[in-house]
Amino acid sequence: MLFGKALIANRGEIACRIIRTCRRLGIATVAIYSEADRRSLHVELADEAWTVGPAPARDSYLAIETIIGVARRSGAEAIHPGYGFLSENAAFAEACAAAGVVWVGPPARAIRAMGSKAAAKALMGRAGVPLVPGYHGDDQSPDVLAAEAGRIGYPVLIKASAGGGGKGMRVVERADALAEALASAQGEAHASFGDDRVLIEKYLARPRHIEIQVFADTHGNIVHLFERDCSIQRRHQKIIEEAPAPGIDPARRHAMGDAAITAARAVGYAGAGTVEFIVEADRFYFMEMNTRLQVEHPVTEMITGLDLVEWQFRVAAGEPLPSRQGELAARGHAFEARIYAEDPDRDFLPSTGPLAHLRQPRETKQVRVDTGVRAGDTISPYYDPMIAKLIVWSETRDAALRQLAAALGEYEVVGVRTNLGLLRAIAGHPAFARADLHTGFIRRHPETLATASGGNERTVLAAAALAVLADERTGTERVSAGDGWSPWGMADAWRLNAEGYQDLLFSDGGGDAVTVRAWPQGDGSTLLDLPGARVRAEREDGCFVRLDGVRQRLPVVRRGPELTVVVDGSNHVLHLVDRFQPPRGETKADSRVTAPIPARVSRVLVVPGDIVGKGAPLLVLEAMKMELTLAAPRDGTIGAISRAPGDMVGEGEELVTFAMAADGAT
Ligand code: ADP
Ligand code: ADP
Ligand code: MG
Repeated sequence: MLFGKALIANRGEIACRIIRTCRRLGIATVAIYSEADRRSLHVELADEAWTVGPAPARDSYLAIETIIGVARRSGAEAIHPGYGFLSENAAFAEACAAAGVVWVGPPARAIRAMGSKAAAKALMGRAGVPLVPGYHGDDQSPDVLAAEAGRIGYPVLIKASAGGGGKGMRVVERADALAEALASAQGEAHASFGDDRVLIEKYLARPRHIEIQVFADTHGNIVHLFERDCSIQRRHQKIIEEAPAPGIDPARRHAMGDAAITAARAVGYAGAGTVEFIVEADRFYFMEMNTRLQVEHPVTEMITGLDLVEWQFRVAAGEPLPSRQGELAARGHAFEARIYAEDPDRDFLPSTGPLAHLRQPRETKQVRVDTGVRAGDTISPYYDPMIAKLIVWSETRDAALRQLAAALGEYEVVGVRTNLGLLRAIAGHPAFARADLHTGFIRRHPETLATASGGNERTVLAAAALAVLADERTGTERVSAGDGWSPWGMADAWRLNAEGYQDLLFSDGGGDAVTVRAWPQGDGSTLLDLPGARVRAEREDGCFVRLDGVRQRLPVVRRGPELTVVVDGSNHVLHLVDRFQPPRGETKADSRVTAPIPARVSRVLVVPGDIVGKGAPLLVLEAMKMELTLAAPRDGTIGAISRAPGDMVGEGEELVTFAMAADGAT
């Protein structure tokens, strides 16, 4: 008998995804939530939801005692940790057992054995699993590390032994850059994991990341569920995954599967795990083992037709694995794209804020959307900024890729920056279609980062103009009183002049403003004089526009004078210009540096009185899984620094000001 009730010690899409399986299996669900997540989707979906503390993860989703207390009081018999947070925390696994709650995960000793990349490599080496040439010894003296790097041969990659999430990783091209890279990797490792030990690996030039999903039960059975290719990455982090891995023949699949099973057996594994390999030419090497459910597990589910969360619960309940290796088969091809609230133009800095508009693809048998947010929810600075995972399946890779591109095209997100443009560019790239996969794909094809903007100016202007006219008619324009920009409240004469037209002035932020002359017609349509053409335009059902008889979806999201028109999933921002308001003066080169997102100050690199050049690093912030260096906006002398390492700062908060020069210029 499976569990009657389970607690899900996580949030976001993975909590929602686990709840879905529980519901199907008849397991009642207990959600936990932080104060920032009071109204989250996972709270709504669960049978009960218990508050566990303030927004910062260490006070809520990482609060072991509190979570165990909730499990006891709610009568949960098992705890599923999801991924991230406590999922690879051996102490938590032990605390569950001590409290008499079943831990849905591997034994604590297996988590510990794989928790250090260095110790895991030593163990795997002894078990005969191939390793990337490198050094993973205990001696961390700079001389030894330098000698080992020289022996391995540059370029080398430094990794935090305790690492994860791409943190504490540095590529070093030449010997003279080693010392500095070591210091910064050790610093980041210490700050992130409280452990500054590192290992060094040969840095492979054009590798693929291919991983094997393994599953073990407590009766000695271990199987693998084939492989996933996760080579499309940014910042050493996956954004598109697929299964099976293109170009892997059955012999290689078998060899990698065997190596993964050997790895799992060597640590006495049970439950779901992933053995990650780095692959170059026809060689594969063990990289690390993740002792949990992986973010990208759905592609494996799509090709095997299995529910891995169900398997996790069955194994945790002591049941044998539902299938033997020989009974497992893969069919078709699946992709997953991770849609993140982040800004590809700013080194993938997370982007936070309310999702003013959100539309996701419709789910079918072949299209799956795993998400934890709804329109109106906020992407907060406290947690991973993933909006959703889009998973598609088809019989062939080509067909699945077409599904991926089409479904990505259905996404509409307004309110935060996203990586959708990048994902679409990759899905449509000929090199991706050829399966020319390697971890440097984005670097190799920088055009994927160029923000493509579908739709022409006329379409965008027409949609914006109709939205403004509609708002005006219904009086629903969302402008706070006292904004001072709105022309609508002003003179009635403005509304429609004697000739029966109205001029709307739009600017796109740069360049000249464009006037759209609108002539409302008796039949509800409007004639719009757009640059170079007059069109007959009608707005339908809020999100659709008919232009000269052609109907298309063109949602417009309005926030004050700012209008975002979504064309084929790309956002175009226009500003409605108040013709009675004088334009704001140009601002001078900034004399202050503010926090772009809420964050923690991790390092301050300057002191008052320092003379810095434009672009010089001033201080380092940490938010979610990212370090962000703030640079001087101009040349000048540092005046005041208002924050110290360890401080939490809010968005827009002033951190550094420049000193006033004697002449009063800043
Ligand atoms: P993977 O290889 O599965 O991406 P990572 O080691 O990069 O694994 O991290 C595991 C996952 O845990 C991440 O992808 C991320 O979604 C999640 N995660 C990490 N940190 C957080 C956090 N602070 N809040 C929520 N989720 C997180
Ligand atoms: P994490 O714990 O952050 O997942 P991994 O060791 O799994 O760290 O490595 C993350 C990514 O870094 C890999 O998917 C790969 O793209 C890259 N990487 C790791 N090791 C190497 C290497 N030796 N050479 C080149 N790239 C590597
Ligand atoms: Mg990894």
